[in-house]
Amino acid sequence: MPDEKKILIVDDNAVNNTILRKILTSCGYMVEEAINGKEALDIINRPDSGISLIMLDLIMPVMDGFAVLADMNRTGLINSIPVVILTGNDEQETEIKCLDAGASDFLKKPYNAQLVRHKIASIIRLCDNAKLINQLETDTLTGLYNKECFNRRAEEQLENNPDTAYLMYYVNIEDFKMLNAHYGTSAGDKLLHFVGSLISCTWGDRGICGRIGADIFAMLLEEKDFMSQDEFAKFYGDHMKDSPIKGVSIKCGVYHIEDRTLPVPVMCDYAKIAEESIRRQYGVYYAVYDSVMSQVAMREHQLSNYMEEALEQHQFLVYLQPKHSTEDGSVAGAEALVRWIHPELGFISPGEFIPLFEKNGFIVKLDFFVWEEVCKTLHKWKEEGMEMIPISVNASRADFLLSDLPEQIEGLIDKYQLEPDYIHVEVTESAYTDNPQQIISMVSTLRDMGFKIEMDDFGSGYSSLNMLSELPIDILKLDMKFMQSGSEQLKGSKRNILSFIVSLSKWLQLPTVAEGVETQEEVEALKSMGVNLIQGYFYSKPMPMEEFRTYMGKHLKPKKVESVGIPQMLLSEFTEDSKDKPLILVVEDIESNQILMKRILSAEYRIDTADNGQIAYDYIKEHANELSCILLDLLMPVMDGFQLLEILHQMRIYLKFLLSLQQKQEIMEN
Ligand code: C2E
Ligand code: CA
Ligand code: CA
Repeated sequence: MPDEKKILIVDDNAVNNTILRKILTSCGYMVEEAINGKEALDIINRPDSGISLIMLDLIMPVMDGFAVLADMNRTGLINSIPVVILTGNDEQETEIKCLDAGASDFLKKPYNAQLVRHKIASIIRLCDNAKLINQLETDTLTGLYNKECFNRRAEEQLENNPDTAYLMYYVNIEDFKMLNAHYGTSAGDKLLHFVGSLISCTWGDRGICGRIGADIFAMLLEEKDFMSQDEFAKFYGDHMKDSPIKGVSIKCGVYHIEDRTLPVPVMCDYAKIAEESIRRQYGVYYAVYDSVMSQVAMREHQLSNYMEEALEQHQFLVYLQPKHSTEDGSVAGAEALVRWIHPELGFISPGEFIPLFEKNGFIVKLDFFVWEEVCKTLHKWKEEGMEMIPISVNASRADFLLSDLPEQIEGLIDKYQLEPDYIHVEVTESAYTDNPQQIISMVSTLRDMGFKIEMDDFGSGYSSLNMLSELPIDILKLDMKFMQSGSEQLKGSKRNILSFIVSLSKWLQLPTVAEGVETQEEVEALKSMGVNLIQGYFYSKPMPMEEFRTYMGKHLKPKKVESVGIPQMLLSEFTEDSKDKPLILVVEDIESNQILMKRILSAEYRIDTADNGQIAYDYIKEHANELSCILLDLLMPVMDGFQLLEILHQMRIYLKFLLSLQQKQEIMEN
């Protein structure tokens, strides 16, 4: 006996309906009836209709059977409710048309009771089995294959197509756990559904696609579907803008399947290694596996295994690298840089282990250790009555996202009885662009607590200049490694950019530190630009704490440093123009430089400005007798500095003093 299955009979002929109803109820089915297509659709479109099978007459008033089939195709119901067509004739053409429209079978009038029972029972059984298999094979949230089924289907695909080349894709939603916690599981589910649909709409009919972990998808695609970095970037940009959670980052690793004897999960692992190689890398979403990645992954595995005991066994050491003032060359600060010296592996570079710890989260523990070591040292200096200089510590993105950083640092400050001014926190530029709001708000908290914030690696290419005025920062760190790369010509233009950034930061009243400075030439150039502090091998490499103490003894400023390491800015208040003061004309097209010059000079001089050589020339003709000095930029639109000099020379207007803002060279004439 079938258990309480409900069957819908759709026929306008009452006699036929009564006969069918009798046959069906006699063997335990429940029955509903409709006398035309419209009534039938009203019933089956109810979410709780519970209909297991439809027996459908074709010719009816209001809406016929073909229209019902068409509508069921449109809504997809045809895939879950089998339809048996009730016909009075043998017309093959009609039968084919119905089969095309998704009908499962036919019953001819007048009905043979036994045949009806058997057909109905077998169709319902087949349909139930199919549903069961489907449930077992697919993930309910996304409709993609689940892990077991994905593995099985991918294996079959590879076996059945030995001559086709294939790719394995591993797709991961970055920080999914955090997103889920932050936005709620229903938003998380929407995101999974979004990614699942994107995958199935794009590749569902071309390859095998599955959801093989909570936030992990995998695809087996043919080699011809390979996307280049550029194609992927375009695809990513076009589609991710519709993501239900904005700013989410999805990373994709690809393995060109070379060894087809590997089990499918191992192929997925290779694609995963590629994916892992780009985690936490801002703006990189796609990587292709190569054998070097495997070695890196093994090494990372090894280092991850060692890291906890390394911390316990004091294998991590904190080194200090001095920052020297450009004013008098004295030591005015230091940066704490961690070192890992492993008993067997030897020296391991922070360039290697810091990105790894940022990926696996251990950086939070390690940074806390570094901060505590720094606090201990400052405390010791204080106890011993030594001159105090600020030490900056590095903070990673993960410190902001995964820890209660302000509370932790505050705890240390209390424990070691320190003033917050002596601790600077270096936050790398890219951290701000990655997840601006959360980071900006935490950094602001730290700043309100009295810690100075240094923006690290400024100029590495992530932020725009106008972000500068909006971010909570006190000091700008310019990394020379971003300035040194490139051709000679590029270096020249980078130097101009550097000079511009320094001027701009002065204007914003942000002191600057240049790091990675290696040569006397660089020191001189940076000094002339007005950089405040210099850090780099030119002065010293990072050194152990004790060694630094001796170094500091030799290089401290003799008298008390009041500004805790940041030389006071050369800022004078604007004063009223007085006729007694000498008149200077600043010829410069960049407004920020004009303002800067005014700020620096207006205490002692009257300042007028001109935006280009032409305007300057007109001005000079009128004020030649009053002018004491012209500060002349060489590169300007309309008429540049060289052209102006040429004209003035021909006109025998002699100038007492010219200074190029661009080159920072004094050019004396006459
Ligand atoms: P960073 O913060 O930009 O640190 C400056 C890096 O430049 C340091 O490398 C330093 O030793 C190096 N350096 C200093 N002067 C020169 C120079 O004149 N020439 C050259 N070529 N390099 C110079 P290091 O110590 O290898 O650190 C690399 C990166 O690792 C750091 O870059 C920082 O991002 C990270 N790091 C180091 N220690 C820590 C830490 O305790 N916590 C966190 N979160 N990150 C750290
Ligand atoms: Ca740093
Ligand atoms: Ca840096």
